[in-house]
Amino acid sequence: MESGVNDLKSLRITSSDDDEVLVEEIEVEEGEDEDDEEEEEGVTLGFVEKPKKTLLSASPSVSKQSGGVPAWLDPVDLPREQARICGFCGEPLEFLLQVYAPISEKESTFHRTLFVFMCPSMSCLLRDQHEQWRRDENPRRSLKVFRCQLPRSNPFYSSEPPRRDGTDKPLSIGAALCSWCGTWKGDKICSSCRRTRYCSEKHQGMHWRSGHKNDCRQIITSSEASASTPGNNRGKLPAIGKATCSTLWPEYEIVIEDELAFDTEMCEDNSCATALVSKHDKIDETFQLLSDKFEADDNKKSWASFEERIAKAPEQVLRYCRDLKAKPLWPLSVGRPSEAHLPKCNYCKGPLCYEFQIMPQLLYYFGVGNDPDSLDWATIVVYTCVASCEASVSYKEEFAWVQLYPTAAIP
Ligand SMILES: [Zn+2]
Ligand SMILES: [Zn+2]
Ligand SMILES: [Zn+2]
Ligand SMILES: [Zn+2]
Repeated sequence: MESGVNDLKSLRITSSDDDEVLVEEIEVEEGEDEDDEEEEEGVTLGFVEKPKKTLLSASPSVSKQSGGVPAWLDPVDLPREQARICGFCGEPLEFLLQVYAPISEKESTFHRTLFVFMCPSMSCLLRDQHEQWRRDENPRRSLKVFRCQLPRSNPFYSSEPPRRDGTDKPLSIGAALCSWCGTWKGDKICSSCRRTRYCSEKHQGMHWRSGHKNDCRQIITSSEASASTPGNNRGKLPAIGKATCSTLWPEYEIVIEDELAFDTEMCEDNSCATALVSKHDKIDETFQLLSDKFEADDNKKSWASFEERIAKAPEQVLRYCRDLKAKPLWPLSVGRPSEAHLPKCNYCKGPLCYEFQIMPQLLYYFGVGNDPDSLDWATIVVYTCVASCEASVSYKEEFAWVQLYPTAAIP
């Protein structure tokens, strides 16, 4: 085994339903049960709250944010066209959440934000699920994570430590964004008015049909009118950073709390647990299916310890712990990656480490339904470059692993 593997012991290799038998054997000595017992590393939990004031989207240093539009840390060098679309259906991805996670030991990571995007189509996620087991050079994904980081001295923000109250905003104007999704860079421009910008033809078409057809003519007329009165022609530029589409996931602020704080005070208000139960109904069905096809016992055990841990704070949507010893909390034993499934960093070729995981509770807050085509996952685990390396692109693609409920994964 290569060096660096020891550092990554925490990335526990667990039995999977795949045929990675060799890797499993190596890890058996480590003790399979440790997963359930080790709780020493401090996990930070994230809970959603309706944003208190002004649009969060203007401030990338707000600790965590979900839904709405992203607050790009580097507002200029945004992800390129190929990076921002679903690898299966080709549609622009939707913003799921961002986590502000600076690493204080390094100068280059004074600001550091991780952005998660996803295709809202469950059929794409099912295909993504199959793709993630392969270790292609350029795997197709319907789920993407970008890491952006900036040193203390940078062109966009004051060198004062961020106040993180929603008032830290880029000092300079960022790239013009898509007039429809407000999310991605607007590389394409409306050929009639030459004012509104789009990330994709798809979004241009949607904006056109939802009213730009009329607005476009008005923009042309008003710019023709203002051309004859110089000095008055700059007021009509389309709003930047505002989405016109109504299909974005709702915007929340993610507030964080130490998991240890929940060790004694159990959830007193039972309503919070029952409200989330619906997403878990599937689990019985899941085990029935598993007893035919997989080792149901392992999964039951895994699920029981998962549930026990989650029960301390059932509304959590995020679990964060960037520590080389930290491990994700897997709901099921089936469908976990072995170390061999984790790619190397795309940029420095160094190892990746677990950084955070996204819980399906987020879908509940996003109002995603329970029908078979609705988006659903057991957990999404995000792995990032251990070195949090520099690269020529501002938004570096990191790796996410999706664990689905087998009911969804088995056709
Ligand atoms: Zn898709
Ligand atoms: Zn767009
Ligand atoms: Zn136009
Ligand atoms: Zn790297």
